[in-house]
Amino acid sequence: MKWVYAFGDGRADGEASLKNLLGGKGANLAEMSNLGLPVPPGFTVTTEVCTYFYAHGQTYPADLKAAVETALAKIGGPAGGRFGDPARPLLVSVRSGARVSMPGMMDTVLNLGLNANTTEGLAKLTDARFAYDSYRRFIQMYSDVVLGVEHSLFEEILDSEKESKGFELDTELDADDLKKIAGLFKDRVRKELGRPFPEDVHEQLWGAVGAVFGSWHSPRAKTYRRLHNIPEEWGTAVTIQAMVFGNRGETSATGVAFTRDPSTGERLLYGEFLINAQGEDVVAGIRTPQPISKVVRERQGGKRPSMEEAMPKTFAELTTICATLEAHYRDMQDLEFTVQEGKLFMLQTRNGKRTAEAALKIAVDMEREGLIDKRIAIGRVDPGALDQLLHPTLDPAAQKEQIAVGLAASPGAATGEIAFTADEAEKLAAERRDVILVRTETSPEDIHGMHAARGILTARGGMTSHAAVVARGMGRPCVSGAGTIKIDVTNGVMTSGGHTLKRGDIITIDGATGCVYKGRVGLRQPELTGDFGVLMGWADTIRKLKVRTNADTPEDAATARKFGAEGIGLCRTEHMFFDNDRIVAVRQMILADAESERKAALAKLLPMQRQDFEGIFKAMAGLPVTIRLLDPPLHEFLPQKDEDIAQVAQAAGGDPAKLRARAIALHESNPMLGHRGVRLGITYPEIYEMQARAIFEAAMNVEAQGGKAVQLEIMIPLVAWKEELDRVKVRIDGVAAQLKAERGKAPSYMVGTMIELPRAALRAAEIAKTAEFFSFGTNDLTQTTIGISRDDAGMFLTDYLNKGVITRDPFVTIDVDGVGELVKIAAERGRGARANLKLGICGEHGGDPDSIRFCHESGLDYVSCSPFRVPVARLAAAQAVLANVKDID
Ligand code: PEP
Ligand code: MG
Repeated sequence: MKWVYAFGDGRADGEASLKNLLGGKGANLAEMSNLGLPVPPGFTVTTEVCTYFYAHGQTYPADLKAAVETALAKIGGPAGGRFGDPARPLLVSVRSGARVSMPGMMDTVLNLGLNANTTEGLAKLTDARFAYDSYRRFIQMYSDVVLGVEHSLFEEILDSEKESKGFELDTELDADDLKKIAGLFKDRVRKELGRPFPEDVHEQLWGAVGAVFGSWHSPRAKTYRRLHNIPEEWGTAVTIQAMVFGNRGETSATGVAFTRDPSTGERLLYGEFLINAQGEDVVAGIRTPQPISKVVRERQGGKRPSMEEAMPKTFAELTTICATLEAHYRDMQDLEFTVQEGKLFMLQTRNGKRTAEAALKIAVDMEREGLIDKRIAIGRVDPGALDQLLHPTLDPAAQKEQIAVGLAASPGAATGEIAFTADEAEKLAAERRDVILVRTETSPEDIHGMHAARGILTARGGMTSHAAVVARGMGRPCVSGAGTIKIDVTNGVMTSGGHTLKRGDIITIDGATGCVYKGRVGLRQPELTGDFGVLMGWADTIRKLKVRTNADTPEDAATARKFGAEGIGLCRTEHMFFDNDRIVAVRQMILADAESERKAALAKLLPMQRQDFEGIFKAMAGLPVTIRLLDPPLHEFLPQKDEDIAQVAQAAGGDPAKLRARAIALHESNPMLGHRGVRLGITYPEIYEMQARAIFEAAMNVEAQGGKAVQLEIMIPLVAWKEELDRVKVRIDGVAAQLKAERGKAPSYMVGTMIELPRAALRAAEIAKTAEFFSFGTNDLTQTTIGISRDDAGMFLTDYLNKGVITRDPFVTIDVDGVGELVKIAAERGRGARANLKLGICGEHGGDPDSIRFCHESGLDYVSCSPFRVPVARLAAAQAVLANVKDID
């Protein structure tokens, strides 16, 4: 077994492709060495040693020690020194490095190899102050990381020494002071542990190596792995490398750089550096680093010189290295460097993290530069993050006063006047004013206000609360569950922390972060052409899945088309019933005792429904439109509270007692499983008949006005038995036949069903004899398969995720083993009965990238998602096709 891989001096045993063995850091140091870049020499102890260590009661392979000694001796040469040699001491850093970066999770020790003798030697070679400062830093770090002695104990000693001298700053301490402090540090360690601080440099080294392996199982590393799905068995590598010093005077420096701007993607050297400093000085934030590039300094209005100005030669060298690394890795690099007395050293490189905006620009630019091809460019952009680019965002430079924080429930930023009720929001919006609807929580009765508002803020509710789900569907920014907010609707005030705001006051919400700000904060509008359009175009040529949208209004339909929707996969008709001018007729229909009375109420609704559909059909101009007939249980349309009942009864000209009795009669103990969906269509066929007629007439009207013929798909919700669908279909066909008799023609249409109950999925072969298409309603299918209601899931699913009972939220990403299995069964059995059965998905999962990949693999024809998820779905569908195309490593 080869346990140790050396690097440095223009060559290396390893290379970038050995990340699993050498960790990301070790593999890239080897790669940079192979490229001939100036890397301080060192070696990496492999992840296999970590695995061995844990498999063998925390002991090392027998031949490891010899391999490490040999490697250590080899790095002494180029670094100019020997480990433990008092005359020319070699100092090393010991760092962890897993396959993927786990920032700050595991341990690092710097300046290792110092003891009383070697420090004395270092003092002679360099200067005494530098040597003793390095020594006291090493004792502090090593004691903390390896020996488990509290960092603060050393800080106390340092502080009291400074105090006794009347000093403010560490820099005022001279070599003698630091030597004394190092002695006090060692005394303290002996007192704490009952044994001395190790003077033997080899003991120091093995202590540090053990600590790094040990930190793989530290609680914070374990938590991090769980949150990021990193397997336990990967283990960490340990990299031991000759120290270089950025704190050797004015010609030394340390810094970090990105080869492109990680927030905008602009092609320039972006980063910061500090003259005469070590990495920890940058992190500690005691001194403010300066920009690397002159242009960046000028843009920021910085007074102190950039690296480009202060160290032009080294900067030029760094620029060349960055170009080499980018061309080699063919991706934006994030790198760390140190300049020791004018000589540049590279300490790390890796693919840099970036914002969605930067990812998009870099992917498109690199394709144009010939660095990557289109398929790789497509893979470089996270579809989930794309969502952020489609909404206005807060101007990063703007001044902000935060007043509350909640959950980032629906992306985008919005600013507007506070409205505390849906009606108020609607009224203000009608006057062309921007409104933020602020509610304790929302309910279906608030839909019109949510639609009218620019953004929604709630004090209660999680990521799957009504407000969050509906806002995402509508593409409205939403912050939910901002718990410090207290709302007094009657007096029109809200408070949060020390702030009090009134109805009409301006607030700004950021649905990407969950932050709520007082007053107006400047917004930036999204850019849908340019790079975005280019990448989307590439995705469209590759994907197999069609992408439709869930839209209930002409406005949403138009938005979705702008984003590239190829049809409507779900038009929910119930939202249309909540509008102020409709709800009265809807309630009359519900309260009707006789069929004739019900029909009279439905007759009032018919023209309104027809008008709704005309608007949607026009917006979709000949594309397929799936309309779902009425789904929710009827009690949702009735008032619940006594005062509302009285008011509604008055408006409808009815008797409050009767209304109350009806509300009680319609009460559902479990609405999700109650009298809803096709069950309503069986009990009250005239409701579905009215809807069918409205659909047909709308289609004919649009065509008569010169519009393109819509491809009609009428969809029946919550079917469990074929017989249910048969009965409803007969009625729909009946309406079409009637229309034909009246007008001499009727539009063509398909009748299909949602598959949202396990029984329907299992009986798909029978149901497909009647159904011409299936649309998987994975919201209900998830609820009915796993037995958890979506509305009540928020709290304990979070707990489940934290405890690791489940790893994904099944209401976000399809539960492959349960719901997914049913989808596959239904697809197979359905197509077995009807070969050209059209298959789609219209649950929220239709906009989730991982679920989209599942849909692609399961052979679905299309996914349907909310308008703002359409581009996400287009990209994810292309990535599903490219799932086996590997990015450059
Ligand atoms: C579903 O159940 O997945 C669905 C799309 O219907 P709804 O969310 O309206 O119940
Ligand atoms: Mg449903």
